[in-house]
Amino acid sequence: MSRVVVIGGGAAGMMAAVSAAECGNRVTLLEKNEKLGKKIYITGKGRCNFTNACDREEFFDKIVTNPRFLYSAFHTFSNEDAIAFFEDRGMPVKVERGNRAFPVSDHASDVTKVLSDEMKRLGVMVRLRCEVSGIETVPYRGTGKKDTWNAAVSGVRLSHGETVPADVIIVATGGLSYPSTGSTGDGYRFAEKAGHTVTKRSPSLVSLSAQEPFCSELAGLTLRNVGVRFVKQDETLYEDFGELLFTHKGVSGPVVLSATGKVSGRLTGSRLLINLKPALSEEQLDARLVREFTGGASKQLRTILGALVPSAMADFVLKQAGIEPTVRGAEVTRQMRASLSSALRNFTLTITGLGGYQEAVVTKGGVSVTEINPKTMESKLVRGLRFAGELLDVDGLTGGFNLQIAWSTGYLAGRIKEQEAKAMSINIAIDGPAGAGKSTIAKAVAKRLGYIYVDTGAMYRTIALYLLRKGIKADDTEAIGKAGREAEVSIDYVNGEQQVLLFGENVSGLIRTEEVGNMASASSVNKDIRDKMADLQRELARTKNVVMDGRDIGTNVLPNAQVKVYLTASVEVRAMRRVKEYEQKGIRADYEQVAKDIEERDYRDMHREHAPLCRAADAVLLDTSDMTIEEVEDAMIRIIEEKLSAKQ
Ligand SMILES: Cc1cc2nc3c(=O)[nH]c(=O)nc-3n(C[C@H](O)[C@H](O)[C@H](O)COP(=O)(O)OP(=O)(O)OC[C@H]3O[C@@H](n4cnc5c(N)ncnc54)[C@H](O)[C@@H]3O)c2cc1C
Repeated sequence: MSRVVVIGGGAAGMMAAVSAAECGNRVTLLEKNEKLGKKIYITGKGRCNFTNACDREEFFDKIVTNPRFLYSAFHTFSNEDAIAFFEDRGMPVKVERGNRAFPVSDHASDVTKVLSDEMKRLGVMVRLRCEVSGIETVPYRGTGKKDTWNAAVSGVRLSHGETVPADVIIVATGGLSYPSTGSTGDGYRFAEKAGHTVTKRSPSLVSLSAQEPFCSELAGLTLRNVGVRFVKQDETLYEDFGELLFTHKGVSGPVVLSATGKVSGRLTGSRLLINLKPALSEEQLDARLVREFTGGASKQLRTILGALVPSAMADFVLKQAGIEPTVRGAEVTRQMRASLSSALRNFTLTITGLGGYQEAVVTKGGVSVTEINPKTMESKLVRGLRFAGELLDVDGLTGGFNLQIAWSTGYLAGRIKEQEAKAMSINIAIDGPAGAGKSTIAKAVAKRLGYIYVDTGAMYRTIALYLLRKGIKADDTEAIGKAGREAEVSIDYVNGEQQVLLFGENVSGLIRTEEVGNMASASSVNKDIRDKMADLQRELARTKNVVMDGRDIGTNVLPNAQVKVYLTASVEVRAMRRVKEYEQKGIRADYEQVAKDIEERDYRDMHREHAPLCRAADAVLLDTSDMTIEEVEDAMIRIIEEKLSAKQ
């Protein structure tokens, strides 16, 4: 079970949390707003067009940026899966014009409710009003050619200072559009800090401003079934047919939004040519005009034109044709008719710019997909970091495609399976007799590799502290076993440092006393205690890259460790090192006695009944008798690299 933290309680984040919890992970979702899915409430004009029931081919046609990146995500959780997901959880679905899917209730809130109920059912811990200010990582050394990570996530920092530890972080903070819903682009900052490239962003699916002042006079007017063509220096940038809406500043509506979705960056400075009569050919339109003018010979053109275009537009069309609106039908010349026909077929606006993020449906651009594994949504740079939703450099047209992007990428990002976590973790076991320098070397190697050093001694000391607190004597085997079984020891890591917790209390600072050390030495031979500690150590090693030292790590605790080293030195050298250590502490020690103690300790460790000290068959023997600490460290790194690349 991995500790998964999802940042952002929008569409992608909630789906990722559900998916990760379904896979058996411990999931926490952090949302800075006071409620979940604030943007979902305003989608589809409050009705939430949550997906599109089109076929696969059409789906990918409507994805404008990086459709190929979405193949795996869509395959894993398609539009059909999305419809089934909501229907199976009690939200009936209807499909409208253009295959747009909505909740039958027409309430966007139903979509959020399904996801939030599902998170509750699966035990996701949702923390609202919880703003993430950064992602914490630890250095990580890859295990070979295919492993491109150079850091691994360790937790997220909240703006009020707290750190939430995590094995996997899913960033689903959305884009920059409608910042009032919470999408303020925080995830781009997190991604960049982690070394990711963020491509240029711009508002998309957004209205356009136009130079012509008459737009404000037409504001609110919808033109249905018109043809649109954006032209820049004789190049047609985009062509479409459908509905267009005049706004105070310019134009909006489905055809305009689609144009910005496809070619937003190039539209500024283009001319928008609106064909107000797209169903008629040039000849048909001319014939129609002749008919209208003959029939209304005494009427003014502005009145006659009211039969062909919305009357509010008549004067502006005539102006573009260069004809006075008061001209009568009978006065129209062939040339005037041609000008009018042209104005009706190419009613022109000059586009001066795009609307801002405040009104954009989505953000184009975002976290570059080249640095993300499309099969998992995981970063190729930082192990355990995943991305989902609109902050990715993927976007689609209107019609439910953007929410489907959120569902598909969120669902895939949450598929964090046990086997995956297991396959990912690297375990290095260091065993050897007392005084061989195991813990010094293990700590140094863990630091160099960015792995976690598991201080197994601290775990035994924690149990010992509990025994002492209970007043149990060192020779009371039965009481030690019983108390050992009931003691609740757990481990946490803060900034890569191991913290030991006894019944949730951080006792790391209380276990370094002589008294605790003596009790740990006496109680660590107890089978119940050793079994319990071994289970805890295995659980740590299952999901994390660890360096662990002891006497039975390679043989008993982690028999499947990828690298095993048996670190030893002659009794004489170990005795000399011990004597020096004592001297540094100002204690005089008799060399002969120290050597004798070491020999006796070796014998005891090698002959104890449970999990005795012995070299695992596949452990590399490293005799450090004639080596400095630096030489041993270098030798260890060489061994680890050789072993890991051999296992590729
Ligand atoms: C008006 C409007 C209508 C739309 N209608 C549709 C539609 O009908 N169909 C469709 O398919 N798409 C529609 N969209 C687009 C669609 O809503 C988005 O693409 C989609 O919601 C993106 O989901 P997301 O989860 O990636 O991001 P978001 O929905 O933006 O969610 C991100 C979440 O992360 C939280 N967050 C951000 N930073 C932090 C932080 N530092 N710490 C903690 N939490 C954080 C935010 O508060 C937010 O809740 C519409 C968009 C708009 C603006």
